[in-house]
Amino acid sequence: MALVVQKYGGTSVGDAQRIRNVAHRVVQAKEAGNRVVVVVSAMGHTTDELLDLAAQISHEPQARELDMLLTAGERISMALLSMAIIELGHEAISFTGSQAGIVTDTSHGKARILEVRARRVLEALDAGKIAIVAGFQGVSTAYDVTTLGRGGSDTTAVALAAALRADVCEIYTDVEGVYTADPRIVPEARKLHAVSYEEMLELSASGAKVLMLRSVEYARNHGVLVHVRSSFTHNEGTWIREEDARMEQAIISGIAHDTSEAKVTIKGLPDVPGVAARLFRVLADEGVNVDMIVQNVSSEQGRTDISFTSPTEDLRRVEVLLESTARELGAEGVETDPDIAKVSLVGAGMKTHPGVAAQMFQALADAGINIQIISTSSIRISCVVAASEVARAVRAIHESFDLAAEAIHREQHPATVTGQIRAVRASEAGT
Ligand code: ADP
Ligand code: ASP
Ligand code: MG
Repeated sequence: MALVVQKYGGTSVGDAQRIRNVAHRVVQAKEAGNRVVVVVSAMGHTTDELLDLAAQISHEPQARELDMLLTAGERISMALLSMAIIELGHEAISFTGSQAGIVTDTSHGKARILEVRARRVLEALDAGKIAIVAGFQGVSTAYDVTTLGRGGSDTTAVALAAALRADVCEIYTDVEGVYTADPRIVPEARKLHAVSYEEMLELSASGAKVLMLRSVEYARNHGVLVHVRSSFTHNEGTWIREEDARMEQAIISGIAHDTSEAKVTIKGLPDVPGVAARLFRVLADEGVNVDMIVQNVSSEQGRTDISFTSPTEDLRRVEVLLESTARELGAEGVETDPDIAKVSLVGAGMKTHPGVAAQMFQALADAGINIQIISTSSIRISCVVAASEVARAVRAIHESFDLAAEAIHREQHPATVTGQIRAVRASEAGT
């Protein structure tokens, strides 16, 4: 008997009718002979609405209380889904993250899962029940309720799949899979049949929110086979799994964009040892994430500029932290720009294909878009551009690399159907 973990995102459980539809899908998987665990997100925009509510009460809500509030969203959908399944004549039982044994560290708002003690979930499965688990939440080692960060239900699902040794972790969402670019920005973007963990890590880290970054890390570390697909159709979606020989043939897998970061520049820093160490230590100690760090060549006066990007939501904190540090270091000043976006081109094949960066820069140049910062990894090239130009930038690069056509080639390649995927397909069909 196969064990399947299914995760349904906010849109998929957006209202009572959609919850009933999800219940039907879950029951289908059960009736096909699977043991089924379901992870749910909060309904529709509930999480945003709760955040709004908190902001009306407090400028800086205490992290513990905010987590207490936000976890309520997933509690609502888990109970409703469980009721909907029971209405269909099946046995179901819902669990909060804490009851499902999701143990996290104590960093409220972005807690990491340390351990999954899935005893109660397993007992429910053994009793023939469908287990419903609230996504995005856990209980800390200090016994407080925590949340895992935005999009965290993906991570709950993958962590449960790993702990239960599930055959597959299905991520049901409002698009049919992982596309060559966000289909809401590039309508002709194509669905990818399979994406390696490494590529998906880069896509998620670069802003493709279809899978939370940490869920991909978790899947890679535990070898969880992930299937991203639509909750509104029965079409096959995108498989996230170990790289294979065929994948390496595709030079580019996709483009991601991210509008959630801001640019920070410290101007006129004395170019002496220890300056960068000091600056970034201050930020690291406060838990601020930084990305795309660039330092200029030193001027004749022995001064240099350092720029980096950081989440816009942390910008106020960064400004406060850097103001005094920059002054102490003798810098000329700190400038910030929240109106930027990052466009990233990702593909395992770019390691061995020269000219990819040149073509990306040319596409932006032809579109008249100025590049403010460039950074690369072995399988990614990222450019910072003005936020107002990001959609145009994504479309220009997508077209330049003819990604719609490239994806067709990948989807039709027979070698992508590995034995593991074939087995999952067979169990879905109830064979
Ligand atoms: P859910 O609520 O189901 O978790 P999310 O909104 O978190 O859904 O993620 C799905 C969204 O991710 C899609 O609606 C799409 O706009 C966006 N997205 C961004 N990049 C991509 C991509 N490359 N492929 C598919 N979807 C993407
Ligand atoms: N409800 C949470 C959010 O909106 C978690 C999730 O949907 O994955 O971020
Ligand atoms: Mg999501």
